[in-house]
Amino acid sequence: MKSTSWIELSKSALQNNIDFIKNELNNLEAFYSVVKGNAYGHGIREFCFLLYDLGVKNFSVFNAEEAYELVNVLRKKDISVMIMGSVTEDQMEWVILNEVSFFVFNWERLKNAISIAKRNNKKARIHLEFETGMNRTGFPLKELPQLYSFLKNDAPHLEVVGICSHLAGAESIGNYKRIQKQMRMFKKLHSITSSWSIDSIQYHLCCSAALLRYPKSMYDTARIGILQYGFFPSKETFVHYTTKKKVIKNPLARVLSWKTKVMDIKRVKTGEFIGYGTSFLANQPTKVAIIPVGYAEGFARNLSNAGKVIIREKRFNVIGMVNMNMMAVNVTASEDIVIGDEVVLIGSQGKQEIKVGAFGDYSKLINYELLTRLPKNIERIIVE
Ligand SMILES: *Cc1c(COP(=O)(O)O)cnc(C)c1O
Repeated sequence: MKSTSWIELSKSALQNNIDFIKNELNNLEAFYSVVKGNAYGHGIREFCFLLYDLGVKNFSVFNAEEAYELVNVLRKKDISVMIMGSVTEDQMEWVILNEVSFFVFNWERLKNAISIAKRNNKKARIHLEFETGMNRTGFPLKELPQLYSFLKNDAPHLEVVGICSHLAGAESIGNYKRIQKQMRMFKKLHSITSSWSIDSIQYHLCCSAALLRYPKSMYDTARIGILQYGFFPSKETFVHYTTKKKVIKNPLARVLSWKTKVMDIKRVKTGEFIGYGTSFLANQPTKVAIIPVGYAEGFARNLSNAGKVIIREKRFNVIGMVNMNMMAVNVTASEDIVIGDEVVLIGSQGKQEIKVGAFGDYSKLINYELLTRLPKNIERIIVE
């Protein structure tokens, strides 16, 4: 059965963004496409099919469940999947058997990986993650000598494919000093571990914001998320980029649109309240369109009396409270709107556009959070 709203993913927009990323990476071939959080709410299955069609082969997820979904949905032999976060002990066997690589940031995980690899007569493909100043996950640099002797002894069961770290907020200039310090530390890490002479190891530190602001954070590969979807990591990075490149037009294209249809039309008399409580009073005869989307579908409740939608190429206001599965829109200005008309919640129609950013401003959520709140069960449709 179909959901009450649907999400469209634009293939040409994605192509545009991938070209942009490749260009910024100086055409360095492989980057890890970050598709955690259900591909930032876009829908991991559909989004990864699209990516694969566009030649992307390296994917990066947060946990083993997401890796499992990717491996089983794409069923392609030539992809590589990397887990940056959670792998429980009971998931690790599947991960190792399927040659999915994963971050190792403590001794418990390292020892587990070795014993499970041994038992299965396989090599665990690991990325050693180091602490450079984010203070989240990662081995401290002072454990390098100990790690080195450990790795040498257990080499038959390990394949160190990467050495990495993560920057603590490269999208904000306020973090400049901290990021610089992290980059110096990573450089040191690089020079020490280079002498370990491990074949074909990849160093990676760079994310979307760092790609645009700290080109020196680029080593062998990068982990790129938000840019693919057509968003700058922050307003600051957008201003920085457009100023530096002397461009005005946004070089990225939004991949996602979110749409639904008018479910009902109601005429309300002057002096009546609309919806729950008293938050909206009709001070003239009002034509209301009822939309079958609410906060359960990811339309933030604080867009009550504040959000906008597009119908028949015109913008209209959300009136009253956003309910769990419905909301009301004031369409008094348009006599011709009828039940079944398409409603754009995010995206464009004619000359009108509702940006995720604007949407985010109303609801005080950043793009990342807003996108990942889009429920998994909304149908995703691929469009040109
Ligand atoms: C999410 C994530 C990224 C990608 O970040 P973007 O800002 O979306 O490019 C890279 N590395 C790690 C470790 C992450 O968790």
